[in-house]
Amino acid sequence: MKIARIETFQVPPRWLFCRIETDDGLVGWGEPVVEGRAEAVRTAVETLAEYLVGQDPLRIEDHWQVLTKGGFYRGGPVLSSAVAGIDQALWDIAGQAYGVPVHALLGGPVRESVRVYAWVGGDEPDEVADEITAQIEAGFTAVKMNASGRVSPMPGPAEVDAIVRRVATAREVLGPERDVAVDFHGRFTPAGARRVLDGIAPLHPLFAEEPLLPEHGHLLPRLVAGTNVPVATGERLYGRAEFLPALQAGIAVAQPDLSHAGGISEVHRIASLADTFGVLLAPHCPLGPIALAASLQVAFATPNFLIQEQSRGIHYNRSADLLSYVLDPEPFRFTDGRAHRTPLPGLGVRVDEAAVRAADSTAHKWRNPVWRHDDGSFAEW
Ligand SMILES: [Mg+2]
Repeated sequence: MKIARIETFQVPPRWLFCRIETDDGLVGWGEPVVEGRAEAVRTAVETLAEYLVGQDPLRIEDHWQVLTKGGFYRGGPVLSSAVAGIDQALWDIAGQAYGVPVHALLGGPVRESVRVYAWVGGDEPDEVADEITAQIEAGFTAVKMNASGRVSPMPGPAEVDAIVRRVATAREVLGPERDVAVDFHGRFTPAGARRVLDGIAPLHPLFAEEPLLPEHGHLLPRLVAGTNVPVATGERLYGRAEFLPALQAGIAVAQPDLSHAGGISEVHRIASLADTFGVLLAPHCPLGPIALAASLQVAFATPNFLIQEQSRGIHYNRSADLLSYVLDPEPFRFTDGRAHRTPLPGLGVRVDEAAVRAADSTAHKWRNPVWRHDDGSFAEW
């Protein structure tokens, strides 16, 4: 069996899919994307495709090595995401070739269902109570929200108060049996993050996500040591080597993104590395159905797993949502806030190819907003 063709599709709301076809008719799908940089990743996939066409698709590890390292320059979001999407598609093909789900090839299932959480509050989380109530009614047992909208890097008492009140509202609506995770989006300085962590600690969030920007990773050990809030990070880390210092810093939750951190191959390895630090996996996934399917395959085979992000109804999904490009919604039917294991081969997602091809013709030009503080200076989004 040989790889015959690799295509990419830039589809709304902000995704990029890749389709790998073999000479005996198998088709694997992947989702290689950096949100807001889809065109750059598309070009990277096209460049890597030059090597792959004509190769045996089942040599996944060897291809990962060559695609990641064979260009001499390596890593970073664009290249790692291109490799990630290709890697997902190759695992999809392997599962179909062997007639088993990908998690069977990763050592077999260690769980029958995967806890997932829902987003509330959007970019500017104000009135979250109603949204949380709706998610509880939909069966979810955990939600995630941004700590704040645009905010001072060193938040003052009113800003900290507003954040704490919002998390307190969430806790009140959720009760003690459900969870709220709080995403800091790296919007505070390290000192500002400490202030906010102190404020929300009594409310027992499931975790605080990206309390520091990746470039302030060297300050994580002190931050972690000074709080009892479990610290999560990883959506902007692209491989094992970048996770190692965060794990050594004492984070509680590792959040590699299946579409950014080298795909199923590398995230499976990151999970094993995290396990040696007693750290749980909670893959980042505000993306489309293929990235989520890949995430779920890893979750079914990973012992040290906590919870899975998913994008149904997320504030980014305006022109299309998680189910817009799938023929069978079953793998994404969440009951009691959980996704359930299926015996479907490969990634277990049946892509609506006609819908994908049609959507690619309209493409998208999604960019994240550029925020500015009141004085005109750049603000972290
Ligand atoms: Mg985040």
